[in-house]
Amino acid sequence: MKAAILAAPADIATRPLRIEDVARPVLAPRHMLLKVRACGVCRTDLHIVEGDLPPRLGHAIPGHQIVGEVIEGATSDVPAGTRVGVSWIGGTDGSCWYCRNNMENLCDAPTFTGYTVNGGYAEYALARADFVFPLPPELDDLHAAPLLCAGIIGFRSLRVAGVEPGERVGLFGFGASAHLAIEVLHAWKCKVYVSTRGESHRRLAKSLGAEWVGSEVEKPPVELDRAVTFAPSGDVVVAALSSLRKGGVVAINAIHLDRMPQFDYDRLLWGERQIRSVANMTRADARDFLKLAAEIDLRPQVTSFPLAQANEALLAVKRDAIDGAAAIIP
Ligand SMILES: [Zn+2]
Ligand SMILES: [Zn+2]
Repeated sequence: MKAAILAAPADIATRPLRIEDVARPVLAPRHMLLKVRACGVCRTDLHIVEGDLPPRLGHAIPGHQIVGEVIEGATSDVPAGTRVGVSWIGGTDGSCWYCRNNMENLCDAPTFTGYTVNGGYAEYALARADFVFPLPPELDDLHAAPLLCAGIIGFRSLRVAGVEPGERVGLFGFGASAHLAIEVLHAWKCKVYVSTRGESHRRLAKSLGAEWVGSEVEKPPVELDRAVTFAPSGDVVVAALSSLRKGGVVAINAIHLDRMPQFDYDRLLWGERQIRSVANMTRADARDFLKLAAEIDLRPQVTSFPLAQANEALLAVKRDAIDGAAAIIP
């Protein structure tokens, strides 16, 4: 099969992914072999390819938003031919304290798709049978792909931020995840305030019904109940914090931040404001979000790239050149 292989992390401008012919994965017990129909491109893939996250496999195939068709390893619940999604959490041990206490997103021994096991920038992928999600028929392959991480983890971020219906919510950064979160927030009758860099991202936020849109350094005109930050930047977290009312919460939707700057506790955090990180996802988050996405007819804006253009897709994500999400069609 054809796959995009990462031998050694490097700046994406040097095109570190090589498109090669490799052996198709062999079916393993309690796994399914999928024919990949689309695979979303996530900023985390960029962190893996550029080495912000230390390499965990010698020759890795990235990609953790896989839409695939079950061709081997089918079960009575998930018969052959079923279209399923695979996300960032590729498996957990099921036995650690976190797994036993409904926090499988924090499992001590997880596998991560496209990082600690091979992912979906390929024609075929192997996935654990208990970590695939049957996809609603309303969603076609291309539009389902970005829901599988950008969508699910964006949804989890809103949960971690404690969003209640009707609240004022700030989104700091407006890429793949935020452009889906805004639709969920509207379904919950929230007012959404967007601070982001890039004129075209601001235009997209406006067109999706944001109450107010400003640049990444502008503060929303009201105090926010909740905020979610999407940019891999500590300065953005501080900007979000400075926009909160007393008792407000900032949730950080980023697996990697450049750094966390010093900030003024008395002015920014005192008053029971909170900063929370968002780590991974649970299967319940995935099921709840995919159900909601079908109910509200969530339509991501997606730009597709062929597998041979995997480097270009990641370069476009790095340069904020994509409005909405990117996906690879192998
Ligand atoms: Zn565990
Ligand atoms: Zn992701």
